[in-house]
Amino acid sequence: MRVGILGGTFDPIHVGHLIAGSEVHTALNLDTVVFMPAGHPWQKDEHKISSAQHRFEMVNRAVADDERFTVSDLEIQRSGPTYAIDTVEKWQKDNPNHEIFWIVGADALLGMTTWHRWEEFLDLVKVVSVNRPGLDPTEVPFDFLSVQMPEVRISATQLRKRFGQGVGCKYLVPDPVIDYILEENLYN
Ligand code: ATP
Ligand code: MG
Repeated sequence: MRVGILGGTFDPIHVGHLIAGSEVHTALNLDTVVFMPAGHPWQKDEHKISSAQHRFEMVNRAVADDERFTVSDLEIQRSGPTYAIDTVEKWQKDNPNHEIFWIVGADALLGMTTWHRWEEFLDLVKVVSVNRPGLDPTEVPFDFLSVQMPEVRISATQLRKRFGQGVGCKYLVPDPVIDYILEENLYN
């Protein structure tokens, strides 16, 4: 099985994430793409992040109608800082026949050498980078695959701001996720 894993905070999930998952699925002929919300994203200020349950629920709603996509709660079930190496080790133990393609945007690619035990992590997965506007992933000190996707210049940070200001986000965030954000009053 060729399995893509796309980790993130997903606060909220948006079309940038979904296009990335879809384009990599097609380009690399993957069997599935797993969206993996981080439990405790230690490189972000956790006080400002929606609960893991809310972020998990949003991802669930976003991928529900696409049979190529699934969601995993592996990271949100784990306590302590979320390290991708722990996730991959557990995944491989449970699924020894999976070849893992770890999907990141160019910004995450550039930060990867700050990840916990990053060199061991790179021995276990194939890294796949998708382009992100304004970022040039040259001089990355390890091998990775590159998939070009149509660029979408949005981030979850901008979207949280827009929701907070009551600015509409249709087509940037899937409708069921917008409904959930408004029902739960996530970004006010
Ligand atoms: P935030 O602004 O809160 O950091 P984000 O939009 O960057 O949110 P993350 O959850 O941090 O979303 O990102 C998860 C993964 O998706 C990362 O690998 C990131 O590089 C990638 N990604 C996010 N937005 C885009 C986008 N617009 N185009 C391509 N990749 C993206
Ligand atoms: Mg980000």
